[in-house]
Amino acid sequence: MSCLKGCINKKCETNKNKQTYPEKFDYCPKCGERLYYVCKECYTQLPDGSKQYCELCWEKKQNAKEKAVDAVAALVDLIPNGGAAVKNIADTIGKFSNRRK
Ligand SMILES: [Zn+2]
Ligand SMILES: [Zn+2]
Repeated sequence: MSCLKGCINKKCETNKNKQTYPEKFDYCPKCGERLYYVCKECYTQLPDGSKQYCELCWEKKQNAKEKAVDAVAALVDLIPNGGAAVKNIADTIGKFSNRRK
């Protein structure tokens, strides 16, 4: 995954549209200002190109991911014989939709 750069010149169209450029761009093609690494999500200027997201958005993403993992884990716990049951359900749904064709 590569980082994205954005124009932090508030008067620039690039900034207004929250447009991003690939990392190899050093200057804004629209206004000529220097480009900085920006958060992919909220366009906040980042100190370096080591991350694609600012801390806030990164945290939000991590939380969302953890919640999804928890939800799946909880589901598997609920069903006796966990994964196998989920696979059976998937197979049944598959058969059902085949029959309807
Ligand atoms: Zn610009
Ligand atoms: Zn952000």
